[in-house]
Amino acid sequence: MRKIILCVLTCVLLCSCAKTTEHTRDIFAMDTVMNLKVYSTDDKAIKAAEEEINRLDAFLDRGNEESEIYKLNAEKSAAVSEETAEIISKALSVSALTEGAFDITIAPVMDLWGFYSKEYHVPTDEELNAVLDGVGYEKIQLDGNHVVLPENTSIDLGGIGKGYTSDRVAEILKSNGVSSAIISLGGNVHALGAKPSGEKWTVGIADPENSSSIIGKVKVRDRAVITSGGYQRFFEQDGKTYHHIIDPATGKSSESGLLSVTVISESGIRADGLSTALFVMGIDRAAQLWREGDDFEAVFVGDDGTITITDGIENDFESEHDYSVLER
Ligand code: AMP
Ligand code: MG
Repeated sequence: MRKIILCVLTCVLLCSCAKTTEHTRDIFAMDTVMNLKVYSTDDKAIKAAEEEINRLDAFLDRGNEESEIYKLNAEKSAAVSEETAEIISKALSVSALTEGAFDITIAPVMDLWGFYSKEYHVPTDEELNAVLDGVGYEKIQLDGNHVVLPENTSIDLGGIGKGYTSDRVAEILKSNGVSSAIISLGGNVHALGAKPSGEKWTVGIADPENSSSIIGKVKVRDRAVITSGGYQRFFEQDGKTYHHIIDPATGKSSESGLLSVTVISESGIRADGLSTALFVMGIDRAAQLWREGDDFEAVFVGDDGTITITDGIENDFESEHDYSVLER
């Protein structure tokens, strides 16, 4: 008995000696630079997080011949993993909620504009109409793990991939005993818990007109903070700018009067889908959707320079600029 007590005491002493320190990683994945900052006793958790990012980089990439999405797009009918079925199902629920402003069947339109290959091209209306035939989230048949697409329909998870990844990274860190971390996937941030000091994490919101500076900061705990903006990927031709967030109704870069939308939500995948959708919807429809729901807050930057926030983050938002507050 004495031996057991001694052994337990030694273990308790050893454990309490293991010090929590900061572990960081910079990773290039999903076409962007990602930074992880994790507070833990060793680097097991951050290594597991890095492996998960690399797995998802390949898994979500429709250009990767080994990925389920590539195979589904090529064969149009496939039994997919539970994970892929769940991602598609969550994407479809954002589509239904936003009346199709978010739509993963946008893939052929992205290809036509060259956003995927980076060989940009401004399509004619004829070219657009030909591919728009295949666009429409309601064309996706999801039955358990079986997915069927019409012949001219393909899917692209670019609008929710990083949000899903941040959810997974947060889960993996938590399951490795981490209670404080900040995950930044190319500007899409996921705060796990609070800072080691107990204070909320501060997340800067990029200025869409000068992305090396910010328009404000939001303080969060256990939240994803995800921004969609036309400034993040675009090309110019004949003096006109074409960006990568497409209005599925027209097949063209959305022109809703917004330069960026930041969504703050507990779920990264939800925040990511919604940020893309709200950008397409414009502030009036977005405000209506926010009033009807209760699972997100948002910051809108208009092309007239206005900043608007939803009232749920009023006490956690700071800015040197004027801003207005949407009320429920
Ligand atoms: P995000 O940066 O999250 O707003 O996602 C933009 C990416 O999502 C684009 O690069 C496309 O891959 C894809 N995308 C563009 N427009 C849409 C849309 N209306 N619905 C869903 N995905 C989209
Ligand atoms: Mg998105």
